Amino acid sequence: MVNPLNLTGHNKNAEETKLPRFECTKCGACCRDEFLLVTVTGSDIVRIAAVLGLSPNELLKALDFHVVADGEPTPIGLDKFPSVATEGGLSFIALRKMENGDCVFLKEHLCMIHPVRPVVCRSFPFVFDESDGQRTWGLSAKKEICPGLGTGPQTSEIELEEIADTILPDIQIYREFANKWNDNQLSPTALDILKTILSDTRFYS
Ligand code: SF4
Ligand code: SF4
Repeated sequence: MVNPLNLTGHNKNAEETKLPRFECTKCGACCRDEFLLVTVTGSDIVRIAAVLGLSPNELLKALDFHVVADGEPTPIGLDKFPSVATEGGLSFIALRKMENGDCVFLKEHLCMIHPVRPVVCRSFPFVFDESDGQRTWGLSAKKEICPGLGTGPQTSEIELEEIADTILPDIQIYREFANKWNDNQLSPTALDILKTILSDTRFYS
């Protein structure tokens, strides 16, 4: 579900762009939901690897390459997120889930990588996209998953714009990387893509 967000003042549709009330209750449900895909950008991967000192092979153990099978709908909120070619097919790179659905980095109810948590964690439950200078926002979860929705003050456009400013540049760099990667690979592998991401200086800015 992606709605138009007029951060520049054009094409506002009152009902469609009505901003929800939201205040995070810190319940941690978004870190424990087995069906929420915690996707990562190239910059996320670089930051996590740097903080934890992970090699590409060690990163592989913390990541999941989620392939959307033919005929399977793209998970909610991911229709605009870049996917990359791997040996399994076009994949969304995401944080691995434990058997109980917990994020691999959730330990005793705390995020072990909080300062460098992925952009989707920082913006949850909101997702953003930008095309032709027009920014759009959407929700990647409903109140049944995120109890913070519908509580607290109404989200302001300024707040959403601030979040969008912090995540859209990461997604755009990753999109450019993914487009080039997908065009050039004859036999791509998940390990090779991690090595390539870790050696790409664009992800270190
Ligand atoms: S599920 Fe919603 S309310 Fe709970 S921690 Fe995540 S963002 Fe906050
Ligand atoms: S990286 Fe941290 S904030 Fe994001 S889902 Fe995992 S535990 Fe939660």
